[in-house]
Amino acid sequence: MEREEDLREEMLDLIRSLKGHVRQGGVGGRYDHLFLKGMKAGEGRGTRQERLDPENTGENLSAFIRTLDDVRQELGDCKRCPLHLTRRNLVFGEGNPSAGLVFIGEAPGEEEDLQGRPFVGRAGQLLTRIIEAMGFERQDVYICNILKCRPPRNRNPKQEEMETCEPFLIQQIEAIRPKVICALGSFAARRILQTDVPITVLRGKFHEFRGVRVMPTYHPAYLLRNPDAKKQVWEDVQLIMKVL
Ligand code: URA
Repeated sequence: MEREEDLREEMLDLIRSLKGHVRQGGVGGRYDHLFLKGMKAGEGRGTRQERLDPENTGENLSAFIRTLDDVRQELGDCKRCPLHLTRRNLVFGEGNPSAGLVFIGEAPGEEEDLQGRPFVGRAGQLLTRIIEAMGFERQDVYICNILKCRPPRNRNPKQEEMETCEPFLIQQIEAIRPKVICALGSFAARRILQTDVPITVLRGKFHEFRGVRVMPTYHPAYLLRNPDAKKQVWEDVQLIMKVL
């Protein structure tokens, strides 16, 4: 059953990317009008249920489906906020474009900035171990951050930086439409849930972001400093695993 679902998702991805090619085929491309009208990511692309409907051949899905590649292209060599002045590499995110599970962290750190990849430093290694303990590989899930560029000396993200970067995160989520988002740490959780409630209260329960279930949990960097909190993170990821 799960395999059938995977195959169907794969077919739909193929259809999506073919449509992307047609649209990118230049002026006069069949879907240019929708692109130029500025439809928002995910608009009219059908619910997950519709996309998994075996009767749905793709014809009745929206002509406009924005892929992660589209979002990456639009982001380009981003200079929308001052963080571009100090970053070495923009960290877009990586993983499975049809992942059932997306991890969202705060912002790239030094190692991520150097490599242009999310969660590859010490905290990232711990996240990888958590993912593996859940029975996945890193490439099965999708990993990204609230901010795509490293704040100098790893300072906290500023409100205006998050506001500038957020539309791209939203479009990534809409392109993937995962079953569950795991928000890592206070910044990610509070930002996507639009709340000031502390992570200690948010964690351990499902919330919602644009129709997707969100499980906030402690950030792996916090776990490195407070190993006792691993038990709670394990409880949180077990709740996620029940849903997947
Ligand atoms: N911390 C984060 O929040 N994100 C990363 O990518 C790395 C460390």
